[in-house]
Amino acid sequence: MKIDGRCHCGYITYEADIDPDNNLICHCTDCQTLSGSAFRVVTHTREDAFRLLSGKLKIYVKTSESGNKRPQSFCPECGTPIYATSVGAGPKVYAIRVGSIRQRDQIVPLAQVWSRSAQLWVTHVGSMRKFEKHPQIDQTGKVTLT
Ligand SMILES: [Zn+2]
Ligand SMILES: [Zn+2]
Repeated sequence: MKIDGRCHCGYITYEADIDPDNNLICHCTDCQTLSGSAFRVVTHTREDAFRLLSGKLKIYVKTSESGNKRPQSFCPECGTPIYATSVGAGPKVYAIRVGSIRQRDQIVPLAQVWSRSAQLWVTHVGSMRKFEKHPQIDQTGKVTLT
């Protein structure tokens, strides 16, 4: 499947070929911190199936619990995460951050990994109250749900 993506500000644009059935949710604590969210959704492709069309990615090399080094690419202007890969010789796999992909509605995760650090409320998301748009937040930061 051919996909294309961009960061939030539009400085970074790319396209890639992916297998649409090769996507994961990652609940690891590094993904929680680096995404600023509860979990991350990624799809995987080969280095040579990813084409950066514009911009220059900034790289942050994170060291995992096991000592593994994982370069994290993101937009230097707006901070949108684009992909992570490995260090050293190729061929490399790129774990593309699904939120930056235009066709993300077609990329459905097949499994959840690092579930031991998943936030416990994640399984209840489907039964939480829903609002079509963002509700009111007052000047004290209190969310009002009406
Ligand atoms: Zn950007
Ligand atoms: Zn992770």
